[in-house]
Amino acid sequence: MKERIFLSAPHMSGNELKYIEKVFESNYIAPIGEYINKFEESICSYTGSENALALSNGTSALHLALRVLGIGEGDDVLASTFTFIGSVNAIIYQNANVVFIDSDKESWNLSPKLLNKYLLECEKKPKALILTHLYGMSADIVKIAEICKLHGIYLIEDAAESLGATYEGKHTGTFGDFGVYSFNGNKILTTSGGGMLVSSNKEWIEKAKFYSTQAKEAHIYYEHNEYGYNYRMSNVLAAIGVAQMEVIEDRVLKKREIFEWYSEFLADVQEISLMPELDNTRGNRWLTALVFEKSDFNVVMKALEGINVESRPLWKPMHMQPLFKDAKTFVDGTSEELYAKGLCLASSTTMTRDDVKMICEVIKDSIVKTD
Ligand SMILES: *Cc1c(COP(=O)(O)O)cnc(C)c1O
Repeated sequence: MKERIFLSAPHMSGNELKYIEKVFESNYIAPIGEYINKFEESICSYTGSENALALSNGTSALHLALRVLGIGEGDDVLASTFTFIGSVNAIIYQNANVVFIDSDKESWNLSPKLLNKYLLECEKKPKALILTHLYGMSADIVKIAEICKLHGIYLIEDAAESLGATYEGKHTGTFGDFGVYSFNGNKILTTSGGGMLVSSNKEWIEKAKFYSTQAKEAHIYYEHNEYGYNYRMSNVLAAIGVAQMEVIEDRVLKKREIFEWYSEFLADVQEISLMPELDNTRGNRWLTALVFEKSDFNVVMKALEGINVESRPLWKPMHMQPLFKDAKTFVDGTSEELYAKGLCLASSTTMTRDDVKMICEVIKDSIVKTD
């Protein structure tokens, strides 16, 4: 059987081992060392963020953002409902209450209209919004940032999936008070596991660093006034990150090319709509996502499985999860409808045009025939 094609497989640049060897030579196989600084610097210079903190994963970065902002028990935190659980787990860690806001059809991402409406109507003012840029596509972030500012709530961008995505040339993750990137195994870049917290506020990043290293006070002995976490990234993994950052633009362009191939080969299928890209934005097209108007995506998934190609339903909205059955929601059916109809297609950057063509032929064979 042909080798399996994954949704988004890790793809090394070729320099990873070389840098790891340097780490070993230096003996800094620890959550301290020069590659951590280099990795943080490369994220800053690529995204234009002013301060960055390398962490063990994206979830811990979101957790630190909430902690540094003083969000805790009893506070309300708004979040995109159409996202992966990693966006919102940290709200639970902080004993805060999540309020889920729906997407709009124009972006599939959080609706600025619903956000504004909620903030005008709500009895209790939330402290923050965690906004996801889904599947690497920029949300209507300028509008969303304006609304947050107007209502005096913090904005945390979950850019875990969207490294390299921009709005009018400015990187997702740099519009909010904090931005978060992830280097989990299936993200556009990977360090096997890892995350980055960015902010233009240097003090906040320093505070986050303090919490990420067990909140040790600046004494020779171990003095603790507050509790912290063990969330820092290892120098070994940062070395992988530095090598991965050398190819970020290539990866974004390849993901976008894969999307273009899908669009081309599926253009004649009326019932398919691909995830939109807002004007003035450039998504990284981490995963090509689409919806079927008539056909059952389960049938398509099964057919793709038959040729050893991975695909996956769109994220099940958080407000539909049993875990959040008691959470407040502000939804209008948009994400529920997308979830009912949609699929993520294999988008690994090692794929060829022929791979995509073959996948599209199987999709076309498995959908409802119109005439
Ligand atoms: C992957 C992901 C996360 C979590 O990142 P980890 O590094 O896996 O902890 C958070 N939010 C979204 C939207 C993600 O896709």
